[in-house]
Amino acid sequence: MTPTRQGSFRLFRLAGIDLYLHWSWFLVAAYQITSRKGEYTSPVWNAVEYLTLFAIVMMHEFGHALACRQVGGQADLIVLWPLGGVAYVNPPPRPGALLWSIAAGPLVNVVLVPILSGLIFLAKAGGSPDVIECLRTVWFINVFLLVFNLLPIYPLDGGQILRSLLWFVCGRTRSLVVASALGLAGAACLLGVAVWLQSPWLGILTGFIALGCWRGFRSAQALARVQDLPRHTGFACPACRVAPPQGQLWQCGKCRNAFDTFVTGAVCPHCGEKFPATGCPDCGRLSPLSAWLIAPPKL
Ligand SMILES: [Zn+2]
Ligand SMILES: [Zn+2]
Ligand SMILES: [Zn+2]
Repeated sequence: MTPTRQGSFRLFRLAGIDLYLHWSWFLVAAYQITSRKGEYTSPVWNAVEYLTLFAIVMMHEFGHALACRQVGGQADLIVLWPLGGVAYVNPPPRPGALLWSIAAGPLVNVVLVPILSGLIFLAKAGGSPDVIECLRTVWFINVFLLVFNLLPIYPLDGGQILRSLLWFVCGRTRSLVVASALGLAGAACLLGVAVWLQSPWLGILTGFIALGCWRGFRSAQALARVQDLPRHTGFACPACRVAPPQGQLWQCGKCRNAFDTFVTGAVCPHCGEKFPATGCPDCGRLSPLSAWLIAPPKL
């Protein structure tokens, strides 16, 4: 349901991270820019304001992606769409790594507050009323985005920060269950607010939040299944360094049968299909089976 590379086009690549823009962004941008009247002397300023907000959302998402890479995680894709941005981050499965990957996004908005305040101060000294008006609007929306993102409603940033803090206390799986349950309760409240404000945007966003919570429950379930299984010796995930669990946990993409890829050497025992990469049930990353082999200790 969240936007992917499909229906999006690449704007640029920075520090190994591709920035994509979803087509629906243009529709909403055109609507936002043309429908607002009266605040500026020229409608060009509506466009400037919208593009500035676009830049702020982009910097927020780069905050997530760069922090995730810093702690050794995977992050190479950001897609911007009318509901904001999505940074596809996969930090290593440690609470501290998740906490930093999530907190770095809102931190960008925090840093922008004094910068925008300074610019308003300068504009007041010699800028046109349009510049001042534009900067003030951007200042308020930046603060609004910061506060909204920090609501403790999973999977908003605040909810994910709460989850990573709970992870320190009650573990990876239970923290996800608790955060998702609180997220659903929060989504119910947001739905009430959306109805009260008669805001279709907030309604749609609430739908995505509820969907994110449901996904949270599902992956907590999957984690719980894997957690207590015995582990294979001689192998470790090259990304998270956890030994893979024993069991028929891998599904063949061709014949749909389940098998234990570490027993069969990344070959489906039912149809003979070979797999160039093996997914880690703990961190979700794909690596070739050869990279999972632990070298025997030198004698
Ligand atoms: Zn964020
Ligand atoms: Zn097969
Ligand atoms: Zn792993």
